[in-house]
Amino acid sequence: MWYVFRRDALEVLYNKRARDSLARYFAVMSDEKPANFMIAKRIPAEFREDYSPKDLWAEHDRLTEEFYKVQKEIDSGKRSLGDLRMQEKSYLDLKIAIANKILEYCHLCSRRCGVNRLKGDLGYCRCGTQITVSSIFEHIGEEPELVPSGTIFTMGCTIRCLHCQNWTISQWFEIGEIYTPKRLAQAVERLRKNGCRNANLVG
Ligand code: SF4
Repeated sequence: MWYVFRRDALEVLYNKRARDSLARYFAVMSDEKPANFMIAKRIPAEFREDYSPKDLWAEHDRLTEEFYKVQKEIDSGKRSLGDLRMQEKSYLDLKIAIANKILEYCHLCSRRCGVNRLKGDLGYCRCGTQITVSSIFEHIGEEPELVPSGTIFTMGCTIRCLHCQNWTISQWFEIGEIYTPKRLAQAVERLRKNGCRNANLVG
């Protein structure tokens, strides 16, 4: 069991400094507050997929203010997640629409390859549009606040560090396995049920 090997991961739960500096993280971990994506799914958004990136970002700016307002109300107990309806088109959908626009002329990282990943072109990282998983496991080697960490190693990386400790993964020497979003969500749920404090996507 993880707490036999990592006493510090247990002790950090009672460390005031850690609890104060990571207050929301600890609250989500213990199901006292909802994760941000749960709130984002309930903030209504007005946009069409064919909007220009500029217009999508303008709507995003507007909704980001709204998001933090709602998050504050939930965190202070003025509202609960149950007061908010799931939206047909939400702040989270808007983020997905923006991500898709970015992939059309990929500038997701500072390499700005400009390839159209939606059409199957690959840039420096050689990542397409699907998530390719190397391994999924309960990691006990992370910082105490994170352990056990629900770690999902994904193939590819935007940099090539000479000292990379995951080079077989980051540089595609392994094959990996493509996961659908649903399968990945199920894997995250399983990690959570096994006591993981977070979903830790490494890639
Ligand atoms: S390295 Fe990958 S993520 Fe970065 S811009 Fe190129 S294709 Fe996009």
